[in-house]
Amino acid sequence: MNEQRITFHRRELETLDRQLLREKQDLRLRNLLDHLATNRFYEEKFRLAGLRMESVRSAEELRLLPFTTKSELAADQQAYPPYGRILTYPLARYRYLHQTSGTTLQPLKWLDTAEDWESWIDCWSYVYRAAGVTEQDVVFCAFSFGPYVSHWAAMDGARRTGALCLSGGGLSSEQRLRMIIDSGCTVVACTPTYALHLAEVARGVGLDLAGSAVHTTIHAGEPGASIPAVKRRIEREWGATCYDHAGATEVGAWAFDCQAQTGAIHLHELEFIFELIDPETGQTADPGTRGELVITNLGRIGMPVLRYRTGDLVDMTLDPCPCGRSLARIRGGVVGRADDMLIVRGVNLYPSAIDNLIRDIPAIVEYEVEVRRRAGMDDLLIKIETGDQPFSDVEQAVFAAFRSRLNIRVSVRAAAPGSLPRYEFKARRYKRVTG
Ligand SMILES: [Zn+2]
Repeated sequence: MNEQRITFHRRELETLDRQLLREKQDLRLRNLLDHLATNRFYEEKFRLAGLRMESVRSAEELRLLPFTTKSELAADQQAYPPYGRILTYPLARYRYLHQTSGTTLQPLKWLDTAEDWESWIDCWSYVYRAAGVTEQDVVFCAFSFGPYVSHWAAMDGARRTGALCLSGGGLSSEQRLRMIIDSGCTVVACTPTYALHLAEVARGVGLDLAGSAVHTTIHAGEPGASIPAVKRRIEREWGATCYDHAGATEVGAWAFDCQAQTGAIHLHELEFIFELIDPETGQTADPGTRGELVITNLGRIGMPVLRYRTGDLVDMTLDPCPCGRSLARIRGGVVGRADDMLIVRGVNLYPSAIDNLIRDIPAIVEYEVEVRRRAGMDDLLIKIETGDQPFSDVEQAVFAAFRSRLNIRVSVRAAAPGSLPRYEFKARRYKRVTG
């Protein structure tokens, strides 16, 4: 790694001594709480906990407040439609309305004031700068757009870096690829699943993606870009360096990858307070152990979340990063979600472990997993689409990989070419079946 090439959005803050960083967080937390007396949701939450907002002065003291959960937010929006009681200001003060993709619950509606939006975009500036993106770059956002905040924030964040920005909304995959190549795009933002799908489409229509001007890909929405085999495959297909980042509609863009490419991504502690808890007990977990991430955002005063349970499981580390940032990191990005855990013949594993294994087998073009739960255990049937190699050879490779790397047996079935779903946004490859 060449020290000269490391780029920052705000170097002095990103490399801050950790004690000073904690003081900065406390200062911003006090500023946030000073505004929340008009936020009925949090006013009630503090009151029911027997806490006074004005007496909570540090991240440490905030731990007395009960967690905020997604189902609690959804219930509040249902009881007090359309936005719940969590708006700090009168509606006229807000500028943007987005909503979650609603994969598990009713979609959440989320509003941002002009200042809150600036804080989103600023978080994206960290994502782009840490990936080396500059005003010389041409950024293509390969998203559908629609009501999803991440698509618009990625686009507006790219504008903020000074790059030339292209929206890929409303286009087919082939049209997107031609636009990427014809416009000399150097940076592409999309989900990891979609990056692999675009590569498949490019091969099909004879476009040379690895020979294109793209040198950087930036991914979120799924853990893929921090899964070694997925990352290797994207980098090979695109001839680019692949960067991960993590975010959520109700939280913000809360983690970013750096040029040191350590396989661990930085938690954006300048804008968020992070806690690690044991997902079973809710008790604070030791740094260095796997735990669920709990996040408080500091810059989104109009519709904040305090001690928000993300459901994301992470392995946090405070080991220094070669890039020079003092911000904590999570190894392998988001490892999984507590509710996604599979129990296969007594082995606990997350879909990311399966993705890592499957993406190491080049002959598998796409896959889907059928999960059948019997007596508390999961049986996996993996349907695979293969390229030119005979199915039986690929099947043997899958058996061998599962046996040697995860020590489990799975069933494998061939799927006709092009029959499995392709995804533009988050993939849904796991199907629970009964019986
Ligand atoms: Zn770093």
